[in-house]
Amino acid sequence: MTATPPFSDEHEELRTSVRGFLERELAPHAQQWERDEWFPDEVFRKLAKQGLLGLKYPTELGGQGGDWLHEAVMIEELARIGSGGTAAGIGAHVNIATPPIWKFGTQEQKERWLRPAIAGEAIGALGITEPGAGSDVASLKTRASRVDGGWLINGEKTYITNGVRADFIVTAVKTTEEGGHNGISFFVIERGEGVTSSKLKKLGWAASDTATIAFQDVFVGDDALLGELNGGFKLIMANFQWERLAMFLCAVGAMQLPYERTSENARQRTAFGMPLSKHQAIRHKLADLASSAHSARCVTYDALRRFYEGEDSLAAVTMAKLLTQRACMDLMDACLQIHGGLGYMAEHWTERAVRDARLGPIGGGTDEVMKEILGKVLGL
Ligand SMILES: Cc1cc2nc3c(=O)[nH]c(=O)nc-3n(C[C@H](O)[C@H](O)[C@H](O)COP(=O)(O)OP(=O)(O)OC[C@H]3O[C@@H](n4cnc5c(N)ncnc54)[C@H](O)[C@@H]3O)c2cc1C
Repeated sequence: MTATPPFSDEHEELRTSVRGFLERELAPHAQQWERDEWFPDEVFRKLAKQGLLGLKYPTELGGQGGDWLHEAVMIEELARIGSGGTAAGIGAHVNIATPPIWKFGTQEQKERWLRPAIAGEAIGALGITEPGAGSDVASLKTRASRVDGGWLINGEKTYITNGVRADFIVTAVKTTEEGGHNGISFFVIERGEGVTSSKLKKLGWAASDTATIAFQDVFVGDDALLGELNGGFKLIMANFQWERLAMFLCAVGAMQLPYERTSENARQRTAFGMPLSKHQAIRHKLADLASSAHSARCVTYDALRRFYEGEDSLAAVTMAKLLTQRACMDLMDACLQIHGGLGYMAEHWTERAVRDARLGPIGGGTDEVMKEILGKVLGL
C-alpha cells in the first residue's frame, strides 16, 4: 500500500499488522458485543500485550516510543472492526483519559496511573460533562473543597465513556467558589468509597459503557491534583484538539468499508432487469459517496499533519470535525438506503452503522460549538 502523507511506509507496515490483529481478535466478536451492550475488560489486556495501548507513549513507561501518527493508524483501524462502542471505549482510554496524565502529570502520577493504563491493568475515563454543563464546560458545578491533607469532592458527571468500568477518572472540578475559566482543576479520582456509577442506554455505540458518575464526599490527596491548581480550563482545551482529531480519524476509518460493501451490493443486486449500479441515480449516489470518503480523508490528514508538525491547527481541526462527522453520518444513511429494506434490519451492519454515526456531530464538541469556534477564528 502506498503511504499518504503525513503517513510513511513505516506507518503502513504498522497498519497492516494492526489490521490483521484487530480482524482476528476483535472484529469476529463485534456484533455480539454490540448486542450485549458491553465488551469484556479482557480486550484492554489483549491490546496491551500487543503494545497497542501505548503506541505514542515513551518506552520508559511501558509504551512503544512512537508518536501521534502511530496512534492515528490505530484509531483508523479500530473504526473498521464494526463496533463503534468498542472503538469508543478503547478510544476514551487511549485518546482522552490518559493523554492529560502524560502531558500534565508528575513522574509519580505517570507511574501510578499511566504505566498500568498502558499495561491494560487499569482502565481510564475522562469526566468533564455534567447534567448542567456540556458545551458550556466552564459552568461545571462538581466541587472540590479543601480539607486537611487533601480535598473532598462532591458532584455528578454524565455521559462518561468507560464510566462504569473505569478504575480511575480524570475529573474536572471547581476549586474556587465561582469556578469558571480560572477556577477549574483536574483530579485523578480512583474508584472507591463515595464513587457510584449507573450505565445509560443509548441510540448507538451500544458496546460502550456510557454512565453517570456521582461523587459523594470522595477524599483525594494533594497528589491527585493534575497540572496546576485552577489551571484546568487550559488542560481541557489542550485535550480537545487530539480528541477531535481522534473522532475524525475514526470517521474516515469507518467510511471506507461501508462504501465498498455498498457498491459491491449495488453491482450484485438487480432491479428492473439490471444491477442497481447501472441505474444512474444509484451510480451517481455511489460516486458522491466515494468523493465524500476521499475528501473526508484529505481534510483529516491535512489537520493531522498540521497538528503533528506543531502548526496552529485550530481552524483545520475545527473544520475537519464539522465536515467529517456530517459526511460520515450522511454516508451511512445513503448506504442503508441503497440496501433497501435489508439495510433497515437489525441484523444488518447498515442499521448499526447509521446509529453509531449519529454521535459524531454531538460528541467532542457539537457542530454548533464548532461553528462558534470557527466564527472566532475567522474573525466574524
Ligand atoms: C455517547 C457519548 C459519550 C460521551 N463521552 C464523554 C466522555 O467520555 N467524557 C465527557 O466528559 N463527556 C462525554 N460526552 C459528552 C459530550 O461531550 C457532550 O454531550 C457534548 O459536549 C454536548 O454537551 P451536552 O450534551 O450537554 O449538550 P448541550 O451543551 O446542552 O447542547 C444542547 C444543544 O444546544 C446547542 N448549543 C449549545 N451551546 C450553543 C451555542 N453557543 N450556540 C448554538 N447552539 C448551542 C448544542 O450544539 C446542542 O445542539 C459523551 C456524550 C455522548 C452522547
